[in-house]
Amino acid sequence: MRKIIFTDLDGTLLDHDTYSYAKAKPALNIIKKNKIPLVICTSKTRVEIEQYRKKLGNKHPFISENGGGIFIPKKYFRFRFKYNKEDRYYFIIRLGAGYKRLLKVLSSIKKRYGLICFHDMSVDELAKDAGLSREEARLAKRREFDSAFRILNPLHEKKILTEIKKRKLNYTIGDRYYHIMGNSDKGKAVRILSELFKREYGEIMTIGIGDSQNDFKMLDNVDNGYLVMHKNRRYSSKKYLKAGDIGPEGWNKAVKKEVQVD
Ligand SMILES: [Mg+2]
Repeated sequence: MRKIIFTDLDGTLLDHDTYSYAKAKPALNIIKKNKIPLVICTSKTRVEIEQYRKKLGNKHPFISENGGGIFIPKKYFRFRFKYNKEDRYYFIIRLGAGYKRLLKVLSSIKKRYGLICFHDMSVDELAKDAGLSREEARLAKRREFDSAFRILNPLHEKKILTEIKKRKLNYTIGDRYYHIMGNSDKGKAVRILSELFKREYGEIMTIGIGDSQNDFKMLDNVDNGYLVMHKNRRYSSKKYLKAGDIGPEGWNKAVKKEVQVD
């Protein structure tokens, strides 16, 4: 049976502070050797994910911006399937809302409650706020389906989130930022992509690894869903399998356990 791994990046495969995946290398080598598809499923943008795919030598489909878009390299699957857009490299399945609409809603909420979104931050400000290099911050700002923001006064959290729901949009809470989005989520994207993998390989077994609330729907839609620990050695929920360690170290343990069984 073919195994497929879906993974979050920030705080999961990548260390929360340093964005390093060094501690996950042993497991990354095993899955590469065994040709196990590793599907990145993150709140990051397409251009940010492309950087990591390059570093990891990853040629598999990926899910950007919390399920806003699914990018499938051309010729990856041997059959035809429905998609919304294509470019030179990918067939793109779009699940997210338009970015302009999201910004409009955020700016109307901002007038009443304090918040700051990626769009308002300069490259330098974002680099400092998120601990990214200037180049990484530039790529992080190139959003297509989901806008990240920070709430300035925690007492306004509930009101801001209610305003988002009132406008028939959704939010999710990531490692560092809140995200506003349309009706897309990581779970929907994982379901669609799993169906395509099933058509390609027949029977499959899916594994998901995340760390935060924005990963729960991804974990709900795989066979074995793992959480890695946060830096404080806590899990963000008790509902899922425990990776047994923090971030990339936990990732390494969970993947080793899953792929060395047979
Ligand atoms: Mg995360």
